[in-house]
Amino acid sequence: MADCIFCKVAAGEIPAQVVRRGDGMLAFRDIHAQAPTHLLVIPTHHVASLNDVTDAGLLGRLLAFARDTAREAGVGDRGYRVVVNTNPDGGQTVYHLHLHVLGGRPMEWPPG
Ligand code: AMP
Ligand code: ZN
Repeated sequence: MADCIFCKVAAGEIPAQVVRRGDGMLAFRDIHAQAPTHLLVIPTHHVASLNDVTDAGLLGRLLAFARDTAREAGVGDRGYRVVVNTNPDGGQTVYHLHLHVLGGRPMEWPPG
């Protein structure tokens, strides 16, 4: 997707702080971190949102990748939150599927 910023991140055309890469996935630091650890996990190929995923196996791989990334980032034991904002009411602003991995502080509930 020519105009997709996360496709450009995946292609190395936009700089990002990549923390993990492999198996068609990438984890990098959110540019506007909402927690001491705030990472984004994406498939390197374009999928607009959770609604557009046709391969359920991709979801499992992404979630496992997010878990492993959280462990590597040192927040696995204390805990973290994985969020997938989907479409306008979900608060999605970038239409390339991404999992937020948030940690390093206690998360609040309910979310805003
Ligand atoms: P969402 O609102 O769920 O679509 O999340 C999009 C996230 O992408 C936001 O938390 C942004 O701060 C983050 N973001 C946008 N552009 C970049 C970028 N170039 N590098 C890293 N994170 C970004
Ligand atoms: Zn994309």
